[in-house]
Order: sequence, then structure tokens, then C-alpha cells
Amino acid sequence: MPEQLLLDRLQQNLARLRLSRVQAVLEETVKVAQEQAHSPLQVLDALLEEEVACKEQRRLDTSLKISGLPFVKTLDEFDFAFQPHLDRRAVQSLFDLSFLSRHENVLLLGPPGVGKTHLAVALAVKACYAGQTIFFTTMADLIEKLKQDAAAGKSGRGRSHYKSSLVVVDEVGYTPIGREECHLFYRFVATRYEKASTIITSNKAFVDWAELFHDPVIVTAILDRLLHHSVVINIKGHSYRLRGKVGGSGPSERGS
Ligand code: ADP
Ligand code: MG
Repeated sequence: MPEQLLLDRLQQNLARLRLSRVQAVLEETVKVAQEQAHSPLQVLDALLEEEVACKEQRRLDTSLKISGLPFVKTLDEFDFAFQPHLDRRAVQSLFDLSFLSRHENVLLLGPPGVGKTHLAVALAVKACYAGQTIFFTTMADLIEKLKQDAAAGKSGRGRSHYKSSLVVVDEVGYTPIGREECHLFYRFVATRYEKASTIITSNKAFVDWAELFHDPVIVTAILDRLLHHSVVINIKGHSYRLRGKVGGSGPSERGS
């Protein structure tokens, strides 16, 4: 078969198989292979490596886009020197992601600006790179979603906030939670308990959660399940947002 016909047929088959990256680099790869006397195996390997890398990049881009992350940051960008009292070893060891396979939760506690969201995001990004499904939400948005599910008479279990292998619930404690909302959150926590990991960030110590959730019985049940298999990281330090702006005992920051 003439070379051009062969190329045409190859391109058609690549299109049918949706190997778009191979399609794009085929001619150039073949040309280089002829010039440099690459073996057929080397050519096949180069083409498939290209396709796999391209598909993986696309998966990452899409996953990160729909994950709800407020920004993308990594552990490398976290300055431990700024938080000298933070247990660096405990934080770093989370990044081997073994807590995910053990279905453990991570609770990041501390005042505003100390890097709770940063670390939660960095863990989610790492998990996404490792091929896990991730979902990020604030507590306020999660409660809204749970209410919508309940109003529609659905369990919501097929949705990302239930089924992702890692869900981050950011900012527990900024908004008070009503009685009905309390039960919805309990059901969310109980559904994921021992099945998948959840990261919680909060500006409130656990003793203050009772006040936040109104219902002391439910709050005990929530904490019981959240903490049973968990890593708790307390960040007792100054706000990174206010670095260089106020002295050590400057005014406390509002908001998150
Ligand atoms: P929190 O969630 O505890 O209120 P954030 O994680 O949102 O705080 O941190 C506020 C900002 O400061 C973010 O831009 C974050 O990336 C940055 N930040 C916080 N702590 C550090 C740190 N130790 N090193 C580098 N950047 C930090
Ligand atoms: Mg935050």
C-alpha cells in the first residue's frame, strides 16, 4: 500500500480510537524514527507514552477544575518556619496519602490565616495527582447541597460531595448550624465513616462545637465518627495574611 494511503488509514483509525495525541504527533514521530533508525518498538512506545501523558494531563485539568478548589497550592509552598509550633513531621507524613487508604479523616484546627485551607488544598491536589477523586466545599455550601438533596427527596449519595474518595469541608465554625442542618451533616459524616476520608478545617476547638451545632447529642455523634480514625493537626500561630503587618499580639483577623 502506498505510504500516503497507509497514513490516511492510520489517521482514520486513530480518530475512531480517540487517540488524538498520537494523531497529532504521528507524522513527526515517523519522520524522526526514519532519520534516526528507531526500532518499531521504540516508535510504538514513544507514541503511546505521548497519548497516556496527554490523557493523564487532561484528567488532572478536568478534575482540578470541577473539584471546587479555591486555589491550587502545594506543600512546597508552605513555609514551616512561619509556624514553628506546628508538628512538621505529622503534616509531612500526611502527604504519603496513606490516610486515604485507611479511610482516616484529617482535622486541621486553628485561628484564621494559619494555613488550614492551604494544607487541605495541598493534600487534595496531591490526591488528585495520585488518581483519587476529590471534592472541596465550604461547610456553608455543603449544608446548602445537603438541604437541596433532602428537599428533592434524594440521598445525594451519587453526587461528588458524597462519593469522592477525598472530600474537604472547609470552614466549619464560621456559620452557626441549625437543628435540621445538624442532622444532615451527621448523616453526611456517618455515610463516609470508615468508607472514605474527609478533611475538616475549623477555627473552633472541639469543645466549642457543641455550641456551634446546638444539639449536644448530635455533636457528640458527629465528633465520635469524625475522630475515631483521624489525624488532628492543631496550628497555634499567627496569621500568614497579617505577617509583617502587626506585632505578635496584634488585632485578631476576621473572616477566613
Ligand atoms: P486559613 O484557612 O487557616 O484561614 P489559609 O490557608 O487560607 O488560612 O492561608 C491564608 C493565606 O496565607 C493563603 O494564601 C495561604 O497560601 C497563605 N499561607 C498561610 N500559611 C502559610 C505558610 N506557612 N506558608 C506559606 N503560605 C501560607
Ligand atoms: Mg481557610
